[in-house]
Amino acid sequence: MPAKLLEGSPIAVKIKEQLKKEILDFDKGLVLASIQVGENSGSVSYIKAQTKAAEDLGIEYRPYKLGDATTKVELTALITKLNSDRSVNGIIVQMPLPKQIDYKGVLSFIDPLKDIEGVNPENLGKIILAKSKILPPTVAAVMELLETAKVKLYGKEVVVVGASEIVGKPLSMLLLNKFATTTVCHIATFESGKLSSHVNRAEVLVVAVGKAGVIKGDWIKEGAVVIDVGINRINDKIVGDVDFVTAASKASLITPVPGGVGPLTTAILMRNLVEAAKLQRANS
Ligand code: NAD
Repeated sequence: MPAKLLEGSPIAVKIKEQLKKEILDFDKGLVLASIQVGENSGSVSYIKAQTKAAEDLGIEYRPYKLGDATTKVELTALITKLNSDRSVNGIIVQMPLPKQIDYKGVLSFIDPLKDIEGVNPENLGKIILAKSKILPPTVAAVMELLETAKVKLYGKEVVVVGASEIVGKPLSMLLLNKFATTTVCHIATFESGKLSSHVNRAEVLVVAVGKAGVIKGDWIKEGAVVIDVGINRINDKIVGDVDFVTAASKASLITPVPGGVGPLTTAILMRNLVEAAKLQRANS
Protein backbone atom coordinates (compact mmCIF):
# COMPACT_ATOMS: atom_id res chain seq x y z
CA MET A 1 0.00 0.00 0.00
CA PRO A 2 1.47 3.44 -0.87
CA ALA A 3 2.51 5.69 2.01
CA LYS A 4 0.31 8.42 3.42
CA LEU A 5 1.65 11.92 2.98
CA LEU A 6 2.85 13.72 6.08
CA GLU A 7 2.42 17.36 5.11
CA GLY A 8 3.79 20.35 6.96
CA SER A 9 1.58 23.04 5.45
CA PRO A 10 -1.66 22.28 7.41
CA ILE A 11 0.30 22.27 10.68
CA ALA A 12 2.00 25.53 9.66
CA VAL A 13 -1.41 27.15 9.04
CA LYS A 14 -2.58 26.21 12.56
CA ILE A 15 0.64 27.51 14.14
CA LYS A 16 0.28 30.85 12.32
CA GLU A 17 -3.39 31.20 13.37
CA GLN A 18 -2.34 30.78 16.99
CA LEU A 19 0.57 33.21 16.59
CA LYS A 20 -1.71 35.93 15.16
CA LYS A 21 -3.61 35.91 18.48
CA GLU A 22 -0.45 35.88 20.63
CA ILE A 23 1.16 38.73 18.69
CA LEU A 24 -1.77 41.01 19.65
CA ASP A 25 -0.37 40.89 23.19
CA PHE A 26 2.65 42.94 22.12
CA ASP A 27 1.53 46.59 21.89
CA LYS A 28 4.67 47.78 20.15
CA GLY A 29 4.66 44.90 17.65
CA LEU A 30 7.53 42.49 17.00
CA VAL A 31 10.72 42.95 15.00
CA LEU A 32 12.87 40.31 13.32
CA ALA A 33 16.34 41.46 12.23
CA SER A 34 17.99 39.50 9.42
CA ILE A 35 21.67 39.95 8.59
CA GLN A 36 22.92 38.87 5.18
CA VAL A 37 26.62 39.09 4.38
CA GLY A 38 27.52 39.18 0.70
CA GLU A 39 25.55 37.86 -2.25
CA ASN A 40 24.90 34.20 -1.48
CA SER A 41 22.20 32.66 -3.63
CA GLY A 42 21.71 29.91 -1.01
CA SER A 43 19.92 32.22 1.41
CA VAL A 44 17.71 34.07 -1.10
CA SER A 45 14.77 31.62 -0.97
CA TYR A 46 14.94 31.45 2.85
CA ILE A 47 14.90 35.25 3.12
CA LYS A 48 11.94 35.41 0.74
CA ALA A 49 9.97 32.84 2.77
CA GLN A 50 10.85 34.59 6.05
CA THR A 51 9.84 38.01 4.71
CA LYS A 52 6.47 36.68 3.56
CA ALA A 53 5.76 34.78 6.79
CA ALA A 54 6.64 37.87 8.85
CA GLU A 55 4.46 40.09 6.66
CA ASP A 56 1.48 37.70 6.94
CA LEU A 57 1.73 37.88 10.73
CA GLY A 58 2.27 41.64 10.96
CA ILE A 59 5.86 41.20 12.17
CA GLU A 60 8.36 43.81 11.00
CA TYR A 61 11.15 42.13 9.01
CA ARG A 62 14.25 44.35 9.22
CA PRO A 63 16.91 43.31 6.67
CA TYR A 64 20.58 44.28 7.11
CA LYS A 65 22.81 43.67 4.11
CA LEU A 66 26.59 43.77 4.56
CA GLY A 67 29.19 43.66 1.78
CA ASP A 68 31.19 40.63 0.63
CA ALA A 69 34.37 41.88 2.33
CA THR A 70 32.77 42.31 5.78
CA THR A 71 35.05 41.16 8.62
CA LYS A 72 34.05 39.14 11.66
CA VAL A 73 34.63 42.23 13.82
CA GLU A 74 32.18 44.28 11.70
CA LEU A 75 29.58 41.53 11.71
CA THR A 76 29.77 40.93 15.45
CA ALA A 77 29.60 44.71 16.06
CA LEU A 78 26.24 44.77 14.24
CA ILE A 79 25.01 41.72 16.20
CA THR A 80 26.03 43.40 19.47
CA LYS A 81 24.18 46.57 18.45
CA LEU A 82 21.02 44.58 17.65
CA ASN A 83 21.36 42.67 20.95
CA SER A 84 21.06 45.94 22.87
CA ASP A 85 18.33 47.42 20.64
CA ARG A 86 15.21 46.83 22.72
CA SER A 87 12.95 47.12 19.67
CA VAL A 88 14.54 43.98 18.13
CA ASN A 89 13.09 40.66 19.28
CA GLY A 90 14.91 38.16 17.08
CA ILE A 91 18.18 38.02 15.14
CA ILE A 92 19.02 35.74 12.22
CA VAL A 93 22.48 35.58 10.66
CA GLN A 94 21.86 34.16 7.18
CA MET A 95 24.13 31.33 6.05
CA PRO A 96 26.43 30.79 4.29
CA LEU A 97 28.84 33.50 5.38
CA PRO A 98 31.81 34.53 3.20
CA LYS A 99 34.97 32.44 3.72
CA GLN A 100 36.82 35.06 5.81
CA ILE A 101 34.23 34.76 8.62
CA ASP A 102 34.23 31.67 10.83
CA TYR A 103 30.50 31.18 11.38
CA LYS A 104 30.94 29.06 14.51
CA GLY A 105 32.78 31.98 16.12
CA VAL A 106 29.92 34.35 15.31
CA LEU A 107 26.97 32.39 16.72
CA SER A 108 27.94 32.91 20.37
CA PHE A 109 27.57 36.69 19.86
CA ILE A 110 23.80 36.41 19.31
CA ASP A 111 21.97 37.10 22.57
CA PRO A 112 20.52 33.67 23.57
CA LEU A 113 17.17 35.42 24.23
CA LYS A 114 17.09 36.78 20.65
CA ASP A 115 18.54 33.64 19.03
CA ILE A 116 15.40 32.49 17.21
CA GLU A 117 17.32 29.94 15.12
CA GLY A 118 18.63 28.24 18.26
CA VAL A 119 22.23 28.36 17.05
CA ASN A 120 23.95 30.06 19.99
CA PRO A 121 26.05 27.37 21.78
CA GLU A 122 24.07 28.06 24.98
CA ASN A 123 20.76 27.19 23.30
CA LEU A 124 22.26 24.24 21.40
CA GLY A 125 23.87 22.91 24.59
CA LYS A 126 20.61 23.07 26.53
CA ILE A 127 19.18 20.45 24.13
CA ILE A 128 21.42 17.85 25.79
CA LEU A 129 19.86 18.74 29.15
CA ALA A 130 16.33 18.76 27.62
CA LYS A 131 16.06 22.35 28.90
CA SER A 132 16.05 24.29 25.65
CA LYS A 133 13.30 26.88 25.22
CA ILE A 134 14.31 27.78 21.66
CA LEU A 135 15.03 24.89 19.29
CA PRO A 136 16.49 25.20 15.79
CA PRO A 137 13.32 25.50 13.64
CA THR A 138 14.14 22.61 11.30
CA VAL A 139 14.61 20.09 14.07
CA ALA A 140 11.54 21.41 15.89
CA ALA A 141 9.64 20.93 12.60
CA VAL A 142 10.73 17.29 12.36
CA MET A 143 9.67 16.64 15.97
CA GLU A 144 6.34 18.41 15.39
CA LEU A 145 5.62 16.29 12.29
CA LEU A 146 6.34 13.09 14.24
CA GLU A 147 4.19 14.26 17.15
CA THR A 148 1.27 15.29 14.91
CA ALA A 149 1.34 11.91 13.20
CA LYS A 150 1.46 10.28 16.69
CA VAL A 151 4.61 8.36 15.82
CA LYS A 152 5.85 6.66 19.00
CA LEU A 153 9.60 7.05 19.44
CA TYR A 154 10.18 5.14 22.69
CA GLY A 155 12.49 2.20 21.92
CA LYS A 156 12.14 2.69 18.15
CA GLU A 157 15.04 2.25 15.72
CA VAL A 158 15.49 5.79 14.45
CA VAL A 159 18.15 6.57 11.86
CA VAL A 160 19.20 10.16 11.13
CA VAL A 161 21.23 10.64 7.95
CA GLY A 162 23.25 13.88 8.09
CA ALA A 163 25.13 15.15 11.14
CA SER A 164 25.31 18.93 10.73
CA GLU A 165 25.38 21.23 13.77
CA ILE A 166 22.07 22.75 12.80
CA VAL A 167 20.03 19.67 11.82
CA GLY A 168 21.43 16.15 12.33
CA LYS A 169 23.27 16.59 15.64
CA PRO A 170 20.61 18.52 17.62
CA LEU A 171 17.88 16.32 16.14
CA SER A 172 19.65 13.15 17.29
CA MET A 173 19.73 14.56 20.87
CA LEU A 174 16.00 15.38 20.81
CA LEU A 175 15.23 11.86 19.57
CA LEU A 176 17.45 10.42 22.29
CA ASN A 177 15.58 12.53 24.85
CA LYS A 178 12.43 10.72 23.65
CA PHE A 179 14.16 7.36 24.25
CA ALA A 180 14.49 6.45 20.59
CA THR A 181 17.40 4.13 19.81
CA THR A 182 19.14 6.67 17.62
CA THR A 183 21.77 6.04 14.94
CA VAL A 184 23.43 8.98 13.18
CA CYS A 185 24.87 8.40 9.69
CA HIS A 186 27.06 10.80 7.69
CA ILE A 187 29.48 10.98 4.80
CA ALA A 188 31.81 8.36 6.33
CA THR A 189 28.89 5.91 6.71
CA PHE A 190 28.22 6.38 2.99
CA GLU A 191 31.87 6.08 1.99
CA SER A 192 32.32 2.90 3.99
CA GLY A 193 29.39 1.35 2.12
CA LYS A 194 27.23 0.95 5.25
CA LEU A 195 24.54 3.56 4.63
CA SER A 196 21.98 1.23 3.02
CA SER A 197 22.15 -1.34 5.85
CA HIS A 198 21.55 1.34 8.50
CA VAL A 199 18.69 2.89 6.51
CA ASN A 200 17.17 -0.55 6.06
CA ARG A 201 16.91 -0.99 9.87
CA ALA A 202 15.11 2.31 10.38
CA GLU A 203 11.55 2.28 11.68
CA VAL A 204 11.78 6.07 11.53
CA LEU A 205 14.18 7.61 9.01
CA VAL A 206 15.13 11.30 8.91
CA VAL A 207 17.35 12.48 6.06
CA ALA A 208 19.14 15.87 6.04
CA VAL A 209 22.03 15.63 3.60
CA GLY A 210 21.44 17.98 0.67
CA LYS A 211 21.99 15.47 -2.17
CA ALA A 212 19.07 14.48 -4.37
CA GLY A 213 18.43 10.74 -4.43
CA VAL A 214 21.11 9.86 -1.88
CA ILE A 215 18.60 7.51 -0.24
CA LYS A 216 17.31 4.83 -2.62
CA GLY A 217 13.68 3.84 -2.25
CA ASP A 218 14.41 0.12 -2.08
CA TRP A 219 16.59 0.65 1.04
CA ILE A 220 13.52 1.70 3.04
CA LYS A 221 12.12 -0.78 5.57
CA GLU A 222 8.53 -1.84 4.90
CA GLY A 223 6.19 0.42 6.90
CA ALA A 224 8.85 2.97 7.92
CA VAL A 225 8.11 6.63 8.62
CA VAL A 226 10.28 8.79 6.34
CA ILE A 227 11.02 12.48 6.94
CA ASP A 228 12.96 14.14 4.15
CA VAL A 229 14.57 17.44 5.21
CA GLY A 230 16.65 17.84 2.05
CA ILE A 231 16.07 20.70 -0.36
CA ASN A 232 17.74 20.31 -3.76
CA ARG A 233 17.10 22.35 -6.89
CA ILE A 234 17.17 20.16 -10.00
CA ASN A 235 16.24 21.85 -13.30
CA ASP A 236 14.13 24.46 -11.51
CA LYS A 237 12.32 21.79 -9.50
CA ILE A 238 12.74 21.31 -5.76
CA VAL A 239 13.32 17.70 -4.67
CA GLY A 240 14.37 16.05 -1.43
CA ASP A 241 17.19 13.61 -0.60
CA VAL A 242 15.01 10.48 -0.80
CA ASP A 243 13.89 8.79 -4.04
CA PHE A 244 10.28 9.72 -3.36
CA VAL A 245 8.30 7.39 -5.66
CA THR A 246 10.02 4.14 -4.71
CA ALA A 247 10.29 5.13 -1.04
CA ALA A 248 6.55 5.91 -0.95
CA SER A 249 5.77 2.37 -2.14
CA LYS A 250 7.46 0.94 1.00
CA ALA A 251 6.97 3.56 3.74
CA SER A 252 3.78 3.98 5.79
CA LEU A 253 4.20 7.77 6.06
CA ILE A 254 6.42 10.10 4.07
CA THR A 255 6.93 13.86 3.85
CA PRO A 256 6.67 15.45 0.40
CA VAL A 257 9.31 17.89 -0.87
CA PRO A 258 8.25 20.64 -1.22
CA GLY A 259 5.40 20.83 1.28
CA GLY A 260 6.81 18.74 4.13
CA VAL A 261 9.43 20.07 6.55
CA GLY A 262 10.03 23.38 4.71
CA PRO A 263 6.77 25.32 5.33
CA LEU A 264 6.69 24.14 8.92
CA THR A 265 10.25 25.37 9.52
CA THR A 266 9.30 28.94 8.60
CA ALA A 267 6.20 28.86 10.82
CA ILE A 268 8.27 27.57 13.74
CA LEU A 269 10.85 30.30 13.17
CA MET A 270 8.02 32.82 13.71
CA ARG A 271 6.85 30.88 16.77
CA ASN A 272 10.41 31.09 18.12
CA LEU A 273 10.28 34.87 17.64
CA VAL A 274 7.11 35.09 19.72
CA GLU A 275 8.59 32.78 22.39
CA ALA A 276 11.78 34.89 22.43
CA ALA A 277 9.72 38.08 22.86
CA LYS A 278 7.91 36.47 25.82
CA LEU A 279 11.24 35.48 27.41
CA GLN A 280 12.56 39.03 26.89
CA ARG A 281 9.46 40.46 28.54
CA ALA A 282 9.81 38.10 31.49
CA ASN A 283 13.49 39.06 31.86
CA SER A 284 13.10 42.82 31.57
P1 NAD B 1 25.30 20.20 5.76
O1 NAD B 1 25.95 20.26 4.44
O2 NAD B 1 25.73 21.11 6.84
O3 NAD B 1 25.45 18.71 6.33
C1 NAD B 1 25.23 17.60 5.51
C2 NAD B 1 25.46 16.32 6.30
O4 NAD B 1 25.24 15.22 5.39
C3 NAD B 1 26.87 16.14 6.83
O5 NAD B 1 26.81 15.61 8.15
C4 NAD B 1 27.53 15.13 5.90
O6 NAD B 1 28.48 14.29 6.54
C5 NAD B 1 26.32 14.32 5.45
N1 NAD B 1 26.50 13.72 4.14
C6 NAD B 1 26.99 14.31 3.01
N2 NAD B 1 26.98 13.43 1.99
C7 NAD B 1 26.46 12.28 2.48
C8 NAD B 1 26.17 11.02 1.89
N3 NAD B 1 26.44 10.77 0.61
N4 NAD B 1 25.62 10.07 2.68
C9 NAD B 1 25.37 10.30 3.99
N5 NAD B 1 25.60 11.49 4.59
C10 NAD B 1 26.16 12.45 3.83
O7 NAD B 1 23.74 20.33 5.47
P2 NAD B 1 22.52 20.88 6.39
O8 NAD B 1 22.66 22.33 6.59
O9 NAD B 1 22.32 20.00 7.58
O10 NAD B 1 21.31 20.66 5.38
C11 NAD B 1 20.99 19.37 4.88
C12 NAD B 1 19.85 19.49 3.89
O11 NAD B 1 18.69 19.95 4.58
C13 NAD B 1 20.08 20.49 2.75
O12 NAD B 1 19.43 20.03 1.58
C14 NAD B 1 19.38 21.75 3.24
O13 NAD B 1 18.95 22.58 2.17
C15 NAD B 1 18.21 21.13 3.95
N6 NAD B 1 17.61 22.00 4.97
C16 NAD B 1 16.28 22.12 4.93
C17 NAD B 1 15.64 22.90 5.84
C18 NAD B 1 14.14 22.99 5.80
O14 NAD B 1 13.56 23.90 6.34
N7 NAD B 1 13.45 22.03 5.17
C19 NAD B 1 16.37 23.61 6.80
C20 NAD B 1 17.75 23.43 6.87
C21 NAD B 1 18.38 22.60 5.93
